[in-house]
Amino acid sequence: MNPSFDSVYFEPAALHYPLGSYLKQKYASLPWIEIQNHNNIPQLRAASNREFVRLKRHLIIGVRKTHRYTENHKVSDFLVPYTSSGCSAMCLYCYLVCNYNKCAYLRVFVNREEMMNKLVKTANTDPWRHVFEIGSNSDLVLENTVTNNLPWTIEEFARRADGKLTFPTKFDMVEPLLGLDHRQKTIFRMSVNPEELIRKIEIGTSQLSARIRAVNAMCDSGYPVGLLIAPIILVPDWESLYEELLITLSDKLSDDVKRVGFLEVIFMTYSFVQNAINSEAFPSLPTLYQPDQMVGRGRGKYRYREHLQKEAEKILLDMINKYLPKMTVKYIS
Ligand code: SF4
Repeated sequence: MNPSFDSVYFEPAALHYPLGSYLKQKYASLPWIEIQNHNNIPQLRAASNREFVRLKRHLIIGVRKTHRYTENHKVSDFLVPYTSSGCSAMCLYCYLVCNYNKCAYLRVFVNREEMMNKLVKTANTDPWRHVFEIGSNSDLVLENTVTNNLPWTIEEFARRADGKLTFPTKFDMVEPLLGLDHRQKTIFRMSVNPEELIRKIEIGTSQLSARIRAVNAMCDSGYPVGLLIAPIILVPDWESLYEELLITLSDKLSDDVKRVGFLEVIFMTYSFVQNAINSEAFPSLPTLYQPDQMVGRGRGKYRYREHLQKEAEKILLDMINKYLPKMTVKYIS
């Protein structure tokens, strides 16, 4: 499931890095368009919402300039800006669209050594051996099919740093990660949803069965693993869809994943921006905005009404207890 790009937009400075020249050769057959700044490409910003799908076929290559970490209090302790932002898949609820609007295409940053050096330095001066989330701005397993960054990242961090890395994914292309010298310092988290929701809403991502095989393989390869059941989407038949998902997980996850893996359960949030883009770019697909179920939480964002979410949380936790009784739920939110 490798992305198929139609053109590359690049900052000239990116070509001075080894990864920049590798990408130049790899995508030599595509048109290359010079840009000043990966954060602001005027001709792409001017595109209409209807052109969202076309924009997603562009690959942007630049140099990351901001490296500020943000505190986080879930599986990781810090969100780290890493080797990419944006994504070429098109999940209708993608939180990156809130940040980047229709310019949520895949941007790859070539200065990975600089980012790794900061990670290593921060991790090694940190007495608490924190967990660093490197996949909050993109899907690194998908990015890896473009850059081959992940094997290098995992082994370099394992060799040089204390602490742990983590990233979530909705993709199954983990073959290059198996058999690496990871020293259990990378926590792999696979995101799952009912197959019907993957097909209709998580456009361009891997099927459920392939994701399950991937997390089983990563666990067999010695990585600490978790599953995100996320985002929970309260479609009319959600209870039966999620029960079916949990039955499938109970049947198909390996005994080791069910014994040592953990769970995160996260409800969908949605926004005015996503709704505007989806209704113009995907007019025939289901709308995720349900005014009777959702409530504003500021800055154009919506979440499920509290009483609905609380009821659903209870039902989901009961189902998890029944079908995956050994897996610890780290949080539900
Ligand atoms: S795979 Fe993740 S990053 Fe990519 S579109 Fe879906 S939610 Fe966004």
